[in-house]
Amino acid sequence: MENDVSKVLLTEAEIRAGLKRLAGELTVEYRGSDLAVVAVLHGSCVFVSDLIRLLPIPLTLEFLACGSYGEGTVSSGEVRLTFIPGAENFAGRRVLLVDDILDTGRTLLRVREALRARGAADVKTCVFLDKPSRRVVPIRSDFRGFEIEDVFVVGYGLDFAGRYRNLPYLAALKPEIYAARQPAPEPRG
Ligand code: 5GP
Ligand code: MG
Repeated sequence: MENDVSKVLLTEAEIRAGLKRLAGELTVEYRGSDLAVVAVLHGSCVFVSDLIRLLPIPLTLEFLACGSYGEGTVSSGEVRLTFIPGAENFAGRRVLLVDDILDTGRTLLRVREALRARGAADVKTCVFLDKPSRRVVPIRSDFRGFEIEDVFVVGYGLDFAGRYRNLPYLAALKPEIYAARQPAPEPRG
């Protein structure tokens, strides 16, 4: 797995420091509130697991699944949304929507609307990574770990063809790894 990596973009220590800062900001925002953390599967699994353990406030954790891609790597623009049973009731609660990466913005925009439609008192977003140069819909994340350039990344929960989520750091893969799968498969979220 490590042999497939061309470049480490964020080390474990850098990620840890970024999350500590982020957790500090979130703690200031949510101290004293009834917080519902809602994480988008699968990419945010590692990020949200580390993040909630740095938040010294009462919270619940729910998940939903989301796919923004059709065939191949070109986004179809359509976002499918599936709530994990039991995760639908946000009426009157403050919701923190957590995702791995803010790319075109379609996913977060769609999910934020869905949570508001379910009566959430307030929906804010928190992403591990932000690629502002890729945005096609108008959305900015309220909280974010790191801004990165427009490069396809894996590790710390993010996959290529379902693999590499368990790399403990953020990395780019060697071009031949991507080229070995043509057409490139869709990221699974
Ligand atoms: P968007 O913001 O375009 O709706 O979609 C964001 C989703 O696309 C992310 O949650 C993630 O699943 C996937 N994605 C976007 N950029 C990358 C990337 O560089 N690496 C990986 N593994 N997934 C990505
Ligand atoms: Mg995703």
